[in-house]
Amino acid sequence: MKLDEIRVTRLIVASYAKKLAEVADTDVAIAGGGPAGITAAYYLVRAGLRVAVFERKLSIGGGMWGGGMMFNEIVVQDPAKAILDDMGVLSVKAGKGYWTADAVHAVAALTYKATAAGARFMNCISVEDVMLQDGRVTGLVIQWSPVEVSGLHVDPLTIRARAVVEATGHPAEVAKVLVNKAQVKLNTPSGGLEGERPMDATRGELAIVENTREIFPGVYAAGMVCNAVYGAPRMGPIFGGMLLSGRKVAELILADLGKRRK
Ligand SMILES: Cc1cc2nc3c(=O)[nH]c(=O)nc-3n(C[C@H](O)[C@H](O)[C@H](O)COP(=O)(O)OP(=O)(O)OC[C@H]3O[C@@H](n4cnc5c(N)ncnc54)[C@H](O)[C@@H]3O)c2cc1C
Repeated sequence: MKLDEIRVTRLIVASYAKKLAEVADTDVAIAGGGPAGITAAYYLVRAGLRVAVFERKLSIGGGMWGGGMMFNEIVVQDPAKAILDDMGVLSVKAGKGYWTADAVHAVAALTYKATAAGARFMNCISVEDVMLQDGRVTGLVIQWSPVEVSGLHVDPLTIRARAVVEATGHPAEVAKVLVNKAQVKLNTPSGGLEGERPMDATRGELAIVENTREIFPGVYAAGMVCNAVYGAPRMGPIFGGMLLSGRKVAELILADLGKRRK
C-alpha cells in the first residue's frame, strides 16, 4: 500500500478537531490526569457521563510512575484493592492489609480502562483558569502546555462542564485560581487553602477520602488536592487514598447530577 502523507495529516487534524469540539461541552471536566483524575474519569464514564481529562504533561499518570523515590512500585492498602481489581491492575499481596503493583503497569491499566470506557484524555493541555458564572464554576479555560511553558502571548480557549474535578495534585492549581484570582471563598474553615501538613500516613489517607468533596459550587476536589485544600497530612507513596478519592468524587458528582450508575 502506498501511503499518502497528506492524508495522514488530514486524518489527524480532522479526528483531533472532532474530539476537541466534543469535549468543549461535556458533563465533567477533570483538571489533572494523575491516579485520582483517571479513577474519577473511569467511574464517571462507566455511569454514562461524558468526561474530559485535561493533563498538562505529555504523559497521563501524574506521580504514580515513580512509586516512591523513583522505585517504580506502588503500595495500596486493603480498602482500595477492589478498585485495583475493577480497573484491571494486577497486584501482589504483601502481608496483612497491603498490596503492591508495578507502577508502570498500574498507570497503563488505569489509563486503558478509563479510555476504553470512553473517557477523553486531552494531554499537553493546561488548565489556566475557570469559567465562573452566577457564583458557580461552569467550565475551564485551557491552553496548550507548550504555550504556557514558552510564555507565548496567545489567548486560551474555554470549555463548558456541568461539574469540574480539581485533581491537579499538590499544587491545587484550580483551587488557587478560585482563591487568588476569583477571590471567592472555598468550603474550608478559613475560606482559603489550609495547606498540606507533614507526613502522617494513617491520618493522611483517611483525610484524603474524607476531604473529597465540593470545594466551591461546581468544583469537586479529588486526590492529593484534598489535603492541600483542607490542611491534612501528606501520606507518602501509598496510593490507596488517591484511588478511593477518585471513586468517591465520581459518586458525589453522580449523586449531585442526578445520574444513576449503570
Ligand atoms: C514533591 C512531591 C511530593 C509528594 N508527596 C507525596 C505524599 O506526601 N503523599 C503521596 O501519597 N504522594 C506524594 N507524592 C506522589 C504523588 O503526587 C501522589 O501520591 C499521587 O500521584 C497524587 O495523585 P493525584 O492524582 O492527586 O495527583 P498527581 O499524581 O500529582 O497528578 C496531578 C496531575 O495533574 C497535572 N496538572 C497539574 N496542574 C495542572 C493544570 N493546571 N492543568 C492540567 N494538568 C495539571 C499534573 O501534571 C499531574 O499529572 C508526591 C509527589 C511529589 C512530586
